[in-house]
Amino acid sequence: MKAIRWYAPRDMRVVEIEKPTPKPHEALIRIESTGVCGSDMHYFAEGRIGKTVITTPIILGHEYAGIVEDVGSEADRSLLGKRVAVEPGIPCMRCEYCLKGHYNVCTKLQFPGGPPNDGALCEYICVHAAFCFPVPEGMTSAEAAMIEPLAVALHAIELANLKAGETVAILGLGPIGLLTAQAARVAGAGKIYGCDLHDYRVAASAAHGVDIAFNAAHENTLDVILRETNGRGVDIAIDCARSTETPAMCCRVARPAGRCVLVGISGEENGLFPVDIARRKELTITWCRRFLFNFPTAIDLVASGRIDVKSMITHSYPLERSLDAFSLVEQASDGVLKASIDQ
Ligand SMILES: [Zn+2]
Ligand SMILES: [Zn+2]
Repeated sequence: MKAIRWYAPRDMRVVEIEKPTPKPHEALIRIESTGVCGSDMHYFAEGRIGKTVITTPIILGHEYAGIVEDVGSEADRSLLGKRVAVEPGIPCMRCEYCLKGHYNVCTKLQFPGGPPNDGALCEYICVHAAFCFPVPEGMTSAEAAMIEPLAVALHAIELANLKAGETVAILGLGPIGLLTAQAARVAGAGKIYGCDLHDYRVAASAAHGVDIAFNAAHENTLDVILRETNGRGVDIAIDCARSTETPAMCCRVARPAGRCVLVGISGEENGLFPVDIARRKELTITWCRRFLFNFPTAIDLVASGRIDVKSMITHSYPLERSLDAFSLVEQASDGVLKASIDQ
């Protein structure tokens, strides 16, 4: 089968590899769609996220969906023929964190498209059947692949402990930021503020629930938020950017005793943090690590039309042109929000 393998920064090639066969508990999925994620950009361009380094060539891609074509002897046969959104990252289910239900921080978690595990830029993949979530009729695989980033957004809002009417600032209006805005809206947020460094994303954000959006390259984020909130700051500040500076900005724009949720991946091992501000304000700061039991809710919210993922899929490429899709996202060109690789 065909696959796209990453060899070096910005060097991805079409290769021929063996089609996998499912182990007893696995499902074989014919992949129909894989989304390009902001986190993929670190591996694509730098070959690493902090200390996690690609040492041997791998297949990237972790936001994917497709059709279950076969299942192993111990897997749920009712999955056969179904279109599924796949939760990436298979935890060990034996360690302390897994047993306590915190499987997203399992230290033995195998994440596809993160070294050393191959991901979904290929024709077929085998995955633990328990992590395959059938989607309703009418949901395309490109939309089903968006369930993964939506699950991240839902987890972020869960961690934010958002209450009806609370104000939210979202720093970074890429797909995760826009989905987080929608999730905040559905959860009952009051005014939502958002900023990004690209005008087209600022413009797109109104359709995703952001009330007041601005370009942080042209306006000072702290000034805008303080001006708009009469000097108070927001109840909840959420970092959805790929920046070393935005976690600190969250602390600045949050009100005293407010909450910060940090979702963005700067790619650096260390970051700058305004400990004095965070202490004086007695902020609650939470990092968000992917998702935790959020797939079923994400599917329901999309199926019921309460969250829109379709309009975020701005570009579609065939598998062979994965490199073009990655370059497009890296350069944030042509108004790209989510680039989808479809087959
Ligand atoms: Zn992702
Ligand atoms: Zn575990």
